[in-house]
Amino acid sequence: MTSPVVLEKHGEIGVILVQNPPVNALSQAVRQGLQDRLAEANADDSIKGIVLAGDGRTFIAGADIKEFGKPMGAPDLNAVIKSYEESPKPVVAAIHGTALGGGLETAFSAHYRVAVPKSFVGLPEVKLGLLPGAGGTQRLPRVAGVESALKMITSGDMVPAPMAAKAGIVDEIVDELIPGAVAFCQRLVDGNAPRPVIAESRGKLDEADPAIFDTFRDTMAKKARGVLAPQNCISAVEAAFKASSFEEGLAEERRLFGELMESPQRAAQIHIFFGEREVAKIPGIGKDVAPKKIGKAAIIGCGTMGGGIAMNFLNVGIPVTVLETTQDALDRGVGVIRSNYENTAKKGRMTAEQVEQRMGLLNPVLSYEEIGDADIVIEAVFEDMAVKKEIFAKLDEVMKDGAVLASNTSTLDIDEIASATKRPEDVVGTHFFSPANVMRLLENVRGEKTSKETIATVMDMGKRIGKIAVLAGNCDGFIGNRMLHPYGREASFLVEEGAQPEDVDRVMYDFGMAMGPFAMGDMAGLDVGWYVRKRQLENWPQGKRYSALADRICELGRFGQKTGAGWYHYDEGSRVPKPDPVVKEIIEKNSAEAGIKRREVSDQEILERCIYALVNEGAKILEEGIALRPVDIDITYVYGYAFPKHRGGPMHYADEVGLDKVLERIKAYHEQSGGDDSWKPAALIEKLVAEGKGFRDYRG
Ligand code: NAD
Repeated sequence: MTSPVVLEKHGEIGVILVQNPPVNALSQAVRQGLQDRLAEANADDSIKGIVLAGDGRTFIAGADIKEFGKPMGAPDLNAVIKSYEESPKPVVAAIHGTALGGGLETAFSAHYRVAVPKSFVGLPEVKLGLLPGAGGTQRLPRVAGVESALKMITSGDMVPAPMAAKAGIVDEIVDELIPGAVAFCQRLVDGNAPRPVIAESRGKLDEADPAIFDTFRDTMAKKARGVLAPQNCISAVEAAFKASSFEEGLAEERRLFGELMESPQRAAQIHIFFGEREVAKIPGIGKDVAPKKIGKAAIIGCGTMGGGIAMNFLNVGIPVTVLETTQDALDRGVGVIRSNYENTAKKGRMTAEQVEQRMGLLNPVLSYEEIGDADIVIEAVFEDMAVKKEIFAKLDEVMKDGAVLASNTSTLDIDEIASATKRPEDVVGTHFFSPANVMRLLENVRGEKTSKETIATVMDMGKRIGKIAVLAGNCDGFIGNRMLHPYGREASFLVEEGAQPEDVDRVMYDFGMAMGPFAMGDMAGLDVGWYVRKRQLENWPQGKRYSALADRICELGRFGQKTGAGWYHYDEGSRVPKPDPVVKEIIEKNSAEAGIKRREVSDQEILERCIYALVNEGAKILEEGIALRPVDIDITYVYGYAFPKHRGGPMHYADEVGLDKVLERIKAYHEQSGGDDSWKPAALIEKLVAEGKGFRDYRG
């Protein structure tokens, strides 16, 4: 077998080239090749210096994902790194593309590093629930200083080469990769330059303030609550600072790495990492289905959602026409977009010129005659079927042939909306999440007649505007909001039975949710749900349990934060929820009226009932084909509902707990509820458990 690493000679300089496309990942064969070619270069007397580079489009971009979670075959990366450090001839790593993770750690084995201006370096392991485990946490703070190293390692973000050069990670920026690196190396040879080994000195370590580690710990505890990896990253860099030798620090890095490997958080984060890519694959829609080009967009309604949706397009340079019914509403909507951009500019994350550029792409109008040439139109008006149908009939008249007609509805029937047009194949749901310019999720909804081309177009559009797009089927609430119903229902029932809103919220917050269901309700506003329930109650099934608790709260004009009171009380101008004795009274009265004897409700019960309600509904959604795969649900919950990433989404979490155990509890709650249909175990869960399987084995 030919090695994926070759040795070329450029005069006196040996160039070791990694040829493992597409990203020169560090497979076992690459590690072996790196060692073998180095030995050859050092044995060849005509070679005086060595350049290490990647062939193709990048330097070594990182570990080999095929080896993830498996023991590393010899030689391991630390052994390879050591052999390069010990090379009697100077070694220069030449970086282009990206040097990430193990790639950058390999570059640290060289005595010098050069990079082309457009390349990037980074240690992204934290994003996979890990830390850089081949000396990255020990060598980076030596070359870049502790603070820069902590920033890079805990964020996992890539750093552009010019910044890396300023930080000391890269010694020189070269315009042309191989010629530049060879010339640099030749100068070292000619000048008989020293061969500095990063591991052999403390470098910039002692410039650090010892208090910085605790500062970072506190920051990361807030930013990534309950997440182990960033904390271990900090401890590993601290070990570099405190250890009396490089080897001692390296051993601590290894121990902390091992701890993360054992943690279920790692598997959850890897699940989400690959899930982000997986959800883009739609069975039956291959590369042969070309997405339509979106060169121009139109939005109907420039309210909370319409304005945010428009910004997504403006941000990537796509002109947007927004349509409103009155000049007032139009001015208000455009004003909000402008002030959002201006706030970003104030924080220094945008220039004033960029603000004007983006606003310049926005065309506010009052007439349908002015939107007909858009490639996609997204309707974002009130959640009312009659209004939406009227608008779609109008769009059918004015939009050019082949335009995508999309609705941002969060619950309504896409097929019924499509029925208002003569082109249902062009109609699709594009459900954005609030705030639409910030939230990463885009839940695309396929109607019965939506064409493959339309689906391919909105999936592709998602990618283009920086969203993670998931495809859902058409049902009340699609994937995300449909699952939210049983979650909210259990939260209310728990309070009726004996818990307080703050108990439920605390348990969910501690689990890792951004906030609990009651705080979330107060933030979103309670009046919309009240309005919906009034309609639902007209046809409420006989004997089905109904909690009137939220209605009692709303009847007092308590609609949440915007009225200063809801499930909680809010002090003037504050968004901090405070438990309210009035609410406690309402709760007790409501329980008495409903004939419910209040009891002690444990935290465990709160957690199980809220989360397993999600899981059971998720399984039903899978059975019905509303979600393509379990991972689509997990991605929806992580990116649309702030489900903790380190728990991998509700379906992954159920597997983690053990689906058999989850089923046992669902059955117990089914019995406890007196056989309520909502707790009837999903047939899919019963089937998977009977086969000894989990959601991870279910392919849809
Ligand atoms: P909103 O009330 O903030 O905005 C609606 C806008 O539509 C208003 O500016 C209104 O003037 C305009 N409008 C009403 N009728 C119109 C018409 N016939 N022609 C043109 N403009 C018209 O509402 P929103 O929160 O932005 O919600 C819009 C849609 O997005 C709804 O379908 C809602 O279910 C969905 N949605 C909302 C959220 C959310 O969190 N707010 C999240 C996801 C989806």
